[in-house]
Amino acid sequence: MSLRPLIAICGTTGVGKSKLAIELALALSASEGHKHGYRGARIINADAMQTYIGMDVITNKVTRQEMRGVEHLLMDCKRPGEQYVIGEWVQDAMKTIDETHERNQLPIVVGGTAYWIQHLVFPNRLPSIERPAGDDAVDAPLSPALAERVSCLPPDLLRLWAELPEGNITDPVLAMSLHKLLSLLDPIVAARWHWRDSRKVVRELEVIKENGRPASEIIAEQSRAPITARYRTLFLWIHANPDALNPRLDARVDQMVEQGLLEEIMTLQRIASENTASQDTMSSIYTTGIYQAIGYKEFHHYLSYPEPSEEAFEKAVEDMKQATRKYAKRQVAWFRNKLLPAVKTMNESSVSESGSLVAPTYVLDATDVGDKWMSSVQKPAERITHDFLEGKELPDPFSVCEAARELMAIKYKPTDPAAVLEARRLVTCDMCTVNKDEPFMVENANWGAHVKSRTHRRLVARAERLADENIARRIAERQKKKALEKSLNNGEAAPDNDISH
Ligand SMILES: [Zn+2]
Repeated sequence: MSLRPLIAICGTTGVGKSKLAIELALALSASEGHKHGYRGARIINADAMQTYIGMDVITNKVTRQEMRGVEHLLMDCKRPGEQYVIGEWVQDAMKTIDETHERNQLPIVVGGTAYWIQHLVFPNRLPSIERPAGDDAVDAPLSPALAERVSCLPPDLLRLWAELPEGNITDPVLAMSLHKLLSLLDPIVAARWHWRDSRKVVRELEVIKENGRPASEIIAEQSRAPITARYRTLFLWIHANPDALNPRLDARVDQMVEQGLLEEIMTLQRIASENTASQDTMSSIYTTGIYQAIGYKEFHHYLSYPEPSEEAFEKAVEDMKQATRKYAKRQVAWFRNKLLPAVKTMNESSVSESGSLVAPTYVLDATDVGDKWMSSVQKPAERITHDFLEGKELPDPFSVCEAARELMAIKYKPTDPAAVLEARRLVTCDMCTVNKDEPFMVENANWGAHVKSRTHRRLVARAERLADENIARRIAERQKKKALEKSLNNGEAAPDNDISH
């Protein structure tokens, strides 16, 4: 059976992804005369932050009016405080895509969480195994290898394995025990998580329980399998030069402040304080769910002053602008280093098998958003989409956009999950470990940067100084001893020693 089509619109934040998606959907509903038979389109949101109900300003949602009647799905479906993990989103997106195809409509996936889109299109390439949606997962019988490992567990860890804790874990002793348990059952996966990251450690343990075997075994199996695609996918990457984009992003932050950003952040703070009993967990909350939205962390500090100053406000605005620009940069890096290598591998195998690209990919230049949007983004996107749906020959990506040549030059990066897992392996830095029971951990791929870091170098210098002092003391002692022996041999009293015969 041939794969059904999907359009995926990605690109940096603030570049016009939602706008293009709506324009494409409207163009499709107006195109009755085309042979492809798709009547209109539905938009499936792939922006992790926009899955949250409300919080329209901080998450940059399009307004009802801007939607122009086009259906938007998987938007406004999670409550702040809840989590939407990638595995769950992929399941929901697949279901929505099926429904859309059944209505003879075209699914358009759009959003900045391109990582989600990539794993929707190319299945089984995650360096971790996410739990399926729903809590009704049943534990699988243990594989002989895992059963062997479980039988060797010390009694306290065996009890822990039998009843894995739920919820937030703040006790470092328990956190360390959980990590030790994971290290004994699946050392490869354990090496990826910091022992403090209990949420992830517990999830990995649950995955092992549900599958009856170590997660790393399943990942290794998936790595050996060739890359596949779930849909015939047209990737449209909207790009703008940072010089043009950054001022636009700055202006958008100012606009968000005017539109009520601070009120939303205060609401989020209230929800957070209702949900978390202790201040201890407040610092970890920035790393989950909607609290990762750019702006929350930056304004949280400002809002916690009893009498916030104008200066603190300006700093929060500036920090938010900087975080936004950094985010845009990371998104481009993801496109070049993660998506393109996967697309290339996939296309090479589809060309050799069927003679056609399964994932044609185009860069569209939105550097100039004024009059040029129509000619360099909207029209080319419509034309390519129609040709893609009708199975016609598609244009050369470099003829569509000049910037594509530079952006689409591929640097080799490993794409298989086992290699990614290896790169993310954590190693303990003995130098930076203060307490042996709470080891200091660094990502393997970042080890080079870590040993150059100021903290690490300072500790190394101190250790060297101590070692030098030790050596100097030992030399002094040895010299003293020698002098003593010599003087004893000569039948004299040792110098500096109060030895009387
Ligand atoms: Zn160190």
